[in-house]
Amino acid sequence: MNAKNPQRGRVFSGARPTGRQHLGNYLGAIQNYVALQDDYDCIYCIVDLHALTTVDTTENLRENTREMALDFLAAGIRPEETIIFVQSHVPQVTELHTILSMVTPLGKLTDLPTFKDKVRQQPNNVNYGLVGYPVLMTADIVLYKANLVPVGIDQAPHLEFAREIVRSFNYRYNTDVLIEPEMKNTEVPKVIGIDGQDKMSKSLDNHIEIAATPEETQARVMQMVTDPQRVRRSDPGDPDVCNVFSMHKIFSSVDEVAMVDVECRRAGIGCVDCKKLFAKNLNEHFAPFRARRSELAQDPAYVDEVLQDGARRARTIAKRTIAEVREAVGLP
Ligand code: SF4
Repeated sequence: MNAKNPQRGRVFSGARPTGRQHLGNYLGAIQNYVALQDDYDCIYCIVDLHALTTVDTTENLRENTREMALDFLAAGIRPEETIIFVQSHVPQVTELHTILSMVTPLGKLTDLPTFKDKVRQQPNNVNYGLVGYPVLMTADIVLYKANLVPVGIDQAPHLEFAREIVRSFNYRYNTDVLIEPEMKNTEVPKVIGIDGQDKMSKSLDNHIEIAATPEETQARVMQMVTDPQRVRRSDPGDPDVCNVFSMHKIFSSVDEVAMVDVECRRAGIGCVDCKKLFAKNLNEHFAPFRARRSELAQDPAYVDEVLQDGARRARTIAKRTIAEVREAVGLP
């Protein structure tokens, strides 16, 4: 591990408790979370309150939180230095959310494309939390005085909105207690699901769990959609339109990628063998992660202890910020 540069700041990122993580979560977030620890103070939050805006049931919320934390820890999040915790365990975030909501114009919230999307997706559950979502997100970030938020370019407008809320607060109360967070631009690869159509997602059931067994992994890989033009084994394929090939480029050796690139085009390799090779490499890649995960899972109290310790450390920062905020606002 490199020595951290104290000038480089504090990273905050929140993720919804979606349970066992899949390849899309791993490539899009977890890998980056692990790497950022080498250079920054990192705070990773499992945002259970945000989840309430869209879930139909909270039945699996606790289980999903634990499973997700287990994946994070097994993947290399180091709780002795990084704060990993559950959003609702630090109630100050809801207080800050309320205070920030008073400096946030309602029209701007209802105009956000993400809000409009949600209204379309769940017309029977357009709750207040959906409207206030970006305000709670801002409270998450600024409560911990994070100055960097790792987001893909598609999420840049959200962060810009958070910055506006901070400016609005600091201006209204003539203070500088809240820090305008900056975007830590991250390359977030779009990981396509095994259906070859949409982004990998649990709700679409087109995902591959990183903690799956080698057999389950292979079974999912065998279902992956390939070049649709390649119908028979003897048909030459086009790896450039094949999701399996995109995955080979991430998980297979340079030589194997070159071999598939050539052999697919001249029907020298069939899709079944090509997928078996990918599944083997995927399983090899995740073998150490899976071993560590089962080791951690043997102590059921471990994850809870990590999350409680994270919440305690997060609360220490949160209490300080809230005291400054109350002072700035002039609350009695
Ligand atoms: S051989 Fe591999 S790269 Fe080519 S179409 Fe089949 S699965 Fe895709």
